[in-house]
This record gives sequence, C-alpha cells and structure tokens, in this order.
Amino acid sequence: MVAGVEGEAFRGFVEELALALDDAAMVDEPAAMAPYLTDFWHLSTGASRLVVRPKDTAGVQAVLRAASAHQVPLVTQSGNTGLVGGNIPDSSGRQVVLNLERLNRIRELAPSGEHLVAEAGCVLQDVQEAAAAADRLFPLSLGAEGSCRIGGNIATNAGGINVLRYGMTRRLVLGLEVVLADGTLWNGLRALPKDNTGYDMKQVFIGSEGTLGVITAATLALAPRPRERHDLWLAIESPEAGVELLRLFRSRLGETISAFELIADAGVEAAEQAFGARVVEERHPWHLLVTVAWSFADGLMAHLEAVLEEAMEAGLVLDGTIAQNDAQRAVMWKLREGQSEAMTRKGSVWRSDVAVATDRVPELVRRCDEVLPAVRPGIVVFPFGHLGDGNLHVNVLAASPDRLSPEDRSRIQDALFDIVAGMGGSFSAEHGIGRWKRGALERLKDPVERRLMARLKQALDPANILNPGVIAEPEPRP
Ligand code: FAD
Repeated sequence: MVAGVEGEAFRGFVEELALALDDAAMVDEPAAMAPYLTDFWHLSTGASRLVVRPKDTAGVQAVLRAASAHQVPLVTQSGNTGLVGGNIPDSSGRQVVLNLERLNRIRELAPSGEHLVAEAGCVLQDVQEAAAAADRLFPLSLGAEGSCRIGGNIATNAGGINVLRYGMTRRLVLGLEVVLADGTLWNGLRALPKDNTGYDMKQVFIGSEGTLGVITAATLALAPRPRERHDLWLAIESPEAGVELLRLFRSRLGETISAFELIADAGVEAAEQAFGARVVEERHPWHLLVTVAWSFADGLMAHLEAVLEEAMEAGLVLDGTIAQNDAQRAVMWKLREGQSEAMTRKGSVWRSDVAVATDRVPELVRRCDEVLPAVRPGIVVFPFGHLGDGNLHVNVLAASPDRLSPEDRSRIQDALFDIVAGMGGSFSAEHGIGRWKRGALERLKDPVERRLMARLKQALDPANILNPGVIAEPEPRP
C-alpha cells in the first residue's frame, strides 16, 4: 500500500508542519522547488507539491511524525546527486521531498583526531576539509564531492576512488543518528570500532537509500593523512595489461595504492576535447590513473620508480607520466572524473555501474564490445572506472544527432546485466537500486534475499511512507 496525499490528509500534514518548523523549511513555489525535483543529469523530473527543509533533527522528527500520522509518502534527499532516481519524487505528485541540506553542522571533532560527528547535510568536501584541518584524512572521494552530502553518501554506501585502500562508506561509519518512520529518534552516535552488543543496527540503514529511516548525523572514522603522494598516468595496450599491472603494483606497493582507475581511449579523447587538456601526446587504446600515498614524508618515489622500471621491462606500459605538482594532478583527475560530462556534450549517454572479479574485467570489456553494439547499432562503448575494485562504468554514447530511446536504454541495460549476472558480478556496484534498477533487482536478485528485504521494510516502515517505489515494498501481512 502506498499512502496518498489527498485533500484532508495533505492539509493536516502541512498544518502540523507549519506549527513545528520555521518558514524557511517550507518550499512550495514551483520555481524554488524545481532543483529538488530533477536529477543531476536531467534524465528525469518528478512532481511534488512541497519540499520540506527542516533545520535540525527535531524538525526531521516532526516531519516524520506528521507524515506517519497523515500517511504522506516522503522522498529523502541530501545533495541530490544520486544516479538511480531514488532521490527525486515519482511523477504522481503525491510524494513530498524531505531535504536535509540545512542540517550541515560538524558537531564534534574528537581531540584524538580519530573521528568527527557530521550532520547529514554536510557537503562531503566540507567534511574532507574539516578532517584535513585536523591533520587527518576522510578518505571518501568521488566526482560529486562538491555537491553530495554525508547523509546521501551513507544512504547509498557510496564507493568512489579510494575503496581499494579504505573501503566503501560502510567502513568509515562508526555510529549513526536516525529518525525512524514514526518519528522516533535512535541515537546511535557511538564512536566505537568494536561493539558486538547484538545486531549492528547502523548497518541496516547504511545503503538503504532512504527506505528504512532518515539519517540525521553520523560518527565518521578518520584516517592518518598521507604525507607523500604520487599520481601517475600510464598508457597501456589492453585491459589485460591493466590487470597485470594491478597485480604487480599490489604485490610491490601493497596498501599504499589508493586509486587504480582504468579508462578507454574513446573517453579520454572526448575529455581532452571537452576540457582542452592532455596528459600523454600519442593516442593509445587504454589508460590507467593510479594514486599511491603513505604517511612518511619521502621515500615512496624510489619504490614507485622501481615498480615502473619492472613494468616497462615487462612491456606492460606504452607511455606514462607522474604528476609533478597539484596542477598536473588536477588535469589527470579532470580527464577521469569528467568522462560522463565530456561524452554528454557529444550526444546521448547511457550509464551503468557494474562489477566483476578484477581478473575478469578484460572478459567483461570484450563481451560488452561484442554484444552491446549488436543490440543497438551505432553506439560507442566507453568503459571506465575502478579497476582496483573490478567496478566499471560501462557507458555508451549515441553521438548527436542520433539519440538513445527509452527502449534502446532498456535493451542495452538488459544485455549488459545478463552478461554481468552470467559472470557472477553485480549490476549495481556503487549507485544502488533507486527507482531505475527496481526491475533488474526483481529479475536478477536471489528471491530469498528479496523476501528478507521486504521483511526488513515491513518491520521498519510498514506503512511504506519512506521512499515508496525504491528497493523493496513491505512484505504483505499473511
Ligand atoms: P541524494 O542524491 O540526495 O540521495 C541518494 C539516495 O539516498 C536517495 O535514495 C535518497 O533518498 C537517500 N538519502 C539521501 N539522504 C538521506 C538521508 N539523510 N537519510 C536517508 N536516506 C537518504 N557514487 C559512488 O558511489 N561513487 C562514485 O564514484 C560516484 N561518482 C559520481 C560522480 C558524479 C558526477 C555524480 C553526479 C554522482 C556520482 N555518484 C557516485 C553518485 C552519488 O554522488 C552518490 O550516490 C552520493 O553518495 C549521493 O549523495 P547525495 O547526498 O547526493 O544523495
């Protein structure tokens, strides 16, 4: 059952909110609401009569109490950079957006520097900067870090470029403050790396995409700040060479590797044109962008040079360069992070986020090259992503004036997901399910796991007011 927002119920909801929240919290002007109703790439626009922006946890509790009392469905939103449509309302006009951007304080920085407590609306980059000011590192880093917010990062269990070394967001969260569907506050803001006192409830909310509760604050673990860091760009012949190099780097440089990114040349060339920047002069089929760093002030470069010499002798590297300063480093990362933006300037883009075991990445790339252009002639396949985690964005472009229709998109998606499922992989490694991958979840996920998800949803949000249409419906009562 999805609750409606009709007449009386909606009026009652708004009246209750007007008593509990300040004026700035209620946004109902169409122009002011517009940015909250469209996704980052403008692929979809939802409809809503109201965006609610409480300024503190008590305000969030008031919203959930009122929503629960009047059966008003909510879509929770932090930075609105999510890529699977779970952050914007559907087209019914019945869902109200609950935006957390005003909860943006860093409440506490531990004197030890081991953790900080941030509210859900803190921009990821602000948290990174707060950690750096305390001579620590908050290692979560992704292309949207200037816009996405901690609540959304946790709700999606975001990955990004440093997973190889520091893990997904889940590994960085020590405690959570969550408002439950009926408005009850759970204060789980512990700062304990060890706590086996029963089920670890925070894990239930991490990655739940706003369907089980609203995260209002988190205790985040900080890492020592690396002092010597090198970013290097390597041109290579093939994904096979990339996997060989990953093995070599891992065995020689171990935990000093934080990023190991693979990029197809089609995407590099598009990014070079789009941003007027270049790292290696000649064209090569594939590229790697690697970051190594450690806590000592120097000495890492000697180890890196030794590995590169070994790689050259083995014929694994065609060309390459090590960034000499921040400007060169920024160019390398712009070419990597700007892949989607650059291709979007050329035409219509379909994006994915799949994972297989790292050893099987070359096979994944080969099969995509064989299968996808046969499914939709005229497309360019341009994979890029986190080779170190086996996680590739196998994206495709139909260059203007050609356009990908919704049918094209769904046929490409089905074909790719079938390839990945056949390889024992994941059809959504980082971005989650949202609304747009619900069909794939139902088609490909183990039925027992789906039933467990429905039971969890039933236990925590039986009236289905939290992000209805995302991940799972509550299991119907017998
Ligand atoms: P939103 O978009 O606001 O919400 C995302 C989901 O979380 C929605 O389902 C929403 O309902 C839920 N949610 C939001 N806030 C809360 C809350 N406080 N409590 C409960 N539920 C909540 N993702 C990666 O993992 N790795 C990447 O490398 C990466 N790169 C990206 C690059 C670009 C250019 C862009 C646009 C996106 C990228 N993303 C990536 C996806 C996105 O940035 C992440 O999913 C991010 O973590 C979402 O944070 P947000 O604050 O924007 O969340």
